[in-house]
Parts: sequence; C-alpha cells; structure tokens
Amino acid sequence: MIKIADKSGFCFGVKRAISLAEKTANLHKKVYTLGPVIHNPQEVERLNDKGIKTLKDPKSVKDGIIILRTHGIPLQLHNELEKKKSIEIIDATCPFVKRAQDIVKELSGKDDAIIIVGEKVHPEVAALVSYGSGKCIVVENIKKAQKLKVKGSLSIVSQTTQTPENFDSIVKCLKKRYKIKVFNTICKATFDRQKSAEKLAKTVDMMIVIGGKNSGNTTRLAQICSTRTKTYHIETADDLKKAWFKSSNSIGLTAGASTPYWIIKQVRGRIEEICSDGKKILKKAKSKEKK
Ligand code: SF4
Repeated sequence: MIKIADKSGFCFGVKRAISLAEKTANLHKKVYTLGPVIHNPQEVERLNDKGIKTLKDPKSVKDGIIILRTHGIPLQLHNELEKKKSIEIIDATCPFVKRAQDIVKELSGKDDAIIIVGEKVHPEVAALVSYGSGKCIVVENIKKAQKLKVKGSLSIVSQTTQTPENFDSIVKCLKKRYKIKVFNTICKATFDRQKSAEKLAKTVDMMIVIGGKNSGNTTRLAQICSTRTKTYHIETADDLKKAWFKSSNSIGLTAGASTPYWIIKQVRGRIEEICSDGKKILKKAKSKEKK
C-alpha cells in the first residue's frame, strides 16, 4: 500500500516562480535564472531544455531577461542589475520571502538590533541580512542565542523555512535577557509539509522522501520522518532499490517544496512496479513449494 502525504511537493512560491520562468521562455529567447531557480536538479534541467539557463555570475551576460529565484537576492546585487539597461529583471522572489525582506528593511531604520533566526549560509538569509543596513545578527540555534551579547532591545525575524520549534526556543531564550519585538515570518508551507510527513511516517513501515539532495527543506523532511520510521531520501525513481521493499507492506511518500509532481508520479509508478514484481516472485515460489 502506498500513501502520499496530504501536503507534499511544490509550494505556492515555487509554482509561481516556475510558471513565471516558463511564460517568459515562451515569449523570449535569452532567459536566465540567477543560480538554480529552485533546489531540484531534475526540474532545473527540464527548464534548461526549454531554454532557461542558469547563471552563476550575472556579469557573464550582456543582455536578456534574468529571473530572480524564490529565495531572493542581496539588495546590492538587485540594485546593480537594475542599473543595466540591456537586462530586464523578473522578480520571482516568493511573496512570503519578500514580506520578511520588507520587515527587515523597515526595521533597519529603527534602533533595535535585528536578529535573523536562520542558517547563515542560506541564500535567503544572505538576502535578508542585506536589507538590514548592517544591523542584522544571524542566530542559528539556541546555543548561539544563549551566547548573544548586544546592547539595547531586539527585533526578531525568521528565515521562512525555519521550524517553529527552533524559532520559539530562541525567542523564549532572548526574552529573558532583552526587550524584544517578534516578527514570525515562518512560511506555513514548510510547516504543513513537515507535520503531514510526520503524521504519515507514524503509520507506515517505510517513508520515501523525494527531492534534491541540495534542498534544505527536503533534507529536513527526511530527518523528521527518520525519527518515526525507516526512511530513504531519493532524488528520482532511479535511486529506488528493490531490497528496500522486501519487508515493507505500507509505504509513505512525501516530497519537498521544490519537488515537481512529475517526479513524485514517476517514483510512485516505479514503487508499484517493484512491489508487483515482488508479489509475482512470491507467488511463483509458493506454487513451486506446493509441487
Ligand atoms: S516554502 Fe514558503 S516561503 Fe519558501 S518559496 Fe515556498 S511558499 Fe515561499
């Protein structure tokens, strides 16, 4: 039996970015995304086949259309791109990420230090920090929060994909020592996928989590599921191994917010094939035993 988590696969922001990229590529020739538009190598390759190229360095193109990805880009880079007359920008930054950027921008004009709860190396956090006019401090976890030393009061904003648990524990910790203002900018799509995956993982023999190995939210889904049941994180149907299915009767599927439906469908189809092959082999073995 295969069950798919109620909330899995593409979120609103990713659907919007892909749709913007495809519509643009239908009308124009030179279409680029600054870095992979989403963290899914197979979907990026599909878009590449449609003529949407991934740029590492915006200086490498003289003209054309550059699509900004869902995580957003640093403000300075955005401003530099805006100045180039031969380049058109289509901003596919997710509106939820944009909201967090706008909050940081507004806070940058106030006295409070701005605490960003998030992963320092994540592009979304790098972009958020760029809106804070040098006033942002990134706090990744409770240990860092305990060691924090700043003067005055704090405003706290979150990377959209943080877990509510991490955000709440940091807020609680800082509240004991500082006067704080809290801006909860966590996106519900991530939270919903995590809760839905965890709920399903409790009821099945095995979970298959589908999504890019470079996708933070997919990796987190795999971590959550692995605390409940046997879990494998795969990118495509080709990664599935027959041996995994020998002693599993119920299989749960979930996918990160950057995993397209066509990959989920392929994985499901391949699992059905593997399981029906297994049943046929078992049937043959039993009929031999009878003879
Ligand atoms: S996970 Fe949320 S914030 Fe991130 S792109 Fe999707 S909808 Fe936007």
